[in-house]
Amino acid sequence: MTPDTVDVLEDTLTKLKDKYGIMPKGVVYNPSKVPDATVTYNWVDDKIYISNRFNDINNYADIVNKSEDSLIEYREKAVINKAEAEIELNTQRMTVRENLMDTLTHEYGHFIHRHANADYVQKSSVFGAKDLGGKLINGDWKYDINSYYSANAKIEAAKISKYATESPYEAFAEGFLAKEKGQEIPESIEKVIKEAKVKAGVKNIANGQKNGILGSTKDERILDVHPIGKINKEIYKCITDDILTDEVVITNNQIQHIMDRHPNDYERFSSYFGEIVKNPDYIIEANKPNTALLLKEIKENDEIFKTVLRLVASKDNPNYKNSIITFMKIDE
Ligand SMILES: [Zn+2]
Repeated sequence: MTPDTVDVLEDTLTKLKDKYGIMPKGVVYNPSKVPDATVTYNWVDDKIYISNRFNDINNYADIVNKSEDSLIEYREKAVINKAEAEIELNTQRMTVRENLMDTLTHEYGHFIHRHANADYVQKSSVFGAKDLGGKLINGDWKYDINSYYSANAKIEAAKISKYATESPYEAFAEGFLAKEKGQEIPESIEKVIKEAKVKAGVKNIANGQKNGILGSTKDERILDVHPIGKINKEIYKCITDDILTDEVVITNNQIQHIMDRHPNDYERFSSYFGEIVKNPDYIIEANKPNTALLLKEIKENDEIFKTVLRLVASKDNPNYKNSIITFMKIDE
């Protein structure tokens, strides 16, 4: 390892320690534990391992450039299906890391993720894996492009980097690194990372965001929300002209409600939610305040859907978003 590299390595580790207060059990130079990578976090023994590739901070730029080349190739490839196409469109870059120390920070992100739950042996209890859009397949969390919920999450992850679409774990670590670099990441991923930091027991982060987002169990529900799309506030003026945000979400509770009361509707039709709230055929005032009953005919299937949308007005909690309360297909 060059003296320059040792200096920067030390500096990076010191900065992370000062900022978060917790560190892996060790940072170990052991190339045999780092197949095909520069640095890796071992989820089981809680150590970060460094390989030969870590030797020279200046050579690392070449490796990064090579992966950017393969991103260009990847984008030129044929389109497979809608979700895959959207991921391709969203993908801005191969990885978030631009230099050698970014690889270390990415691995530190895995370390934070693992420590967000005391039980790291049971993969089913990996923190936030479901909120990141993961599905437990053969005992581990993966993205499943065939499920609307998981495919959507993978599309979001692609906004961070192509590497983030590998798995919910990589979405977390890439998102963590992007945030450390002061970049914007999708809100749904950011929320999981923020809560993981708190659960892992990092030092209080100076900007006080912690208290604004988390704390009471009521606020934690904000973490269970999934973006649906945006509305045009103009067309909802017939309900109220006091709408705080154009964003629409659905919560896990409401998804569960729809699944319980209207079996199969959620799985089959949730992909229409965005279109229904954006372009409803009819907007009817519901019998609750700031609540709209939407009717929409989806032409391709000749089906009519009824959706209830709660709009967030200025006297509501400003952290809330417009939210789908219920949804069903109307049988004729
Ligand atoms: Zn990783």
